[in-house]
Amino acid sequence: MADLAQDIIGHARAMSGAGLGVGTSGNVSARVDGGFLITPSGVAYEDLVPDRLVTVAMDGNFEGQWVPSSEWRFHRDIYAQRPDAGAVVHCHSAHATALACLGEGLPAFHYMVAIAGGDDIRCADYATFGSQALSDAVLAGLGGRQACLMANHGHVALGRNVAQAFALAREVEALCHQYLLARQAGEPVLLSADEMKVVLEKFKSYGKQPEQD
Ligand code: 13P
Ligand code: ZN
Repeated sequence: MADLAQDIIGHARAMSGAGLGVGTSGNVSARVDGGFLITPSGVAYEDLVPDRLVTVAMDGNFEGQWVPSSEWRFHRDIYAQRPDAGAVVHCHSAHATALACLGEGLPAFHYMVAIAGGDDIRCADYATFGSQALSDAVLAGLGGRQACLMANHGHVALGRNVAQAFALAREVEALCHQYLLARQAGEPVLLSADEMKVVLEKFKSYGKQPEQD
């Protein structure tokens, strides 16, 4: 647990330098037995120490004086519905949030869109932060994929572990940046559904080196 707490804190602190957030926006969690360990609500990442992370049970109960992230519901619902999720990163990075404020997701403008597991990256409907309605919208927006944008809010990514969820969150932010640049310059050419099928198939084996799990 101590190593996992340090892992969460390290990645939460790295968010701002990685262009994933400002201030106390965003949150990071990882699955533990019976629930998940998550960053506390409204605490600056530089002030995080392991004792301030909160273990939340799958029924939403938690102990101790530190209040979990206001978004514990969508973290909980991702762990409940997605056995493949070992960690979740949510952030308000500039370009993903800008696109989400248009209520748009990412179409297949670049083959790397497939990194989230589909031929596009959807934008979940808007709902108030911290609400069950937002969690329901996020789960629908993910729809079995590993990331989605969140209208008028930001985006969320999941992975087997914190490093993987963080890397995907960065990738989504980079793709949104590229897409917005392309849109400013003209009308991006979209890849066909058939080509994205080929890419998704290739991604099943891409980057699987012998010593990696
Ligand atoms: P918390 O500080 O409660 O995690 O909230 C940040 C956030 O991004 C809400 O959507
Ligand atoms: Zn947020």
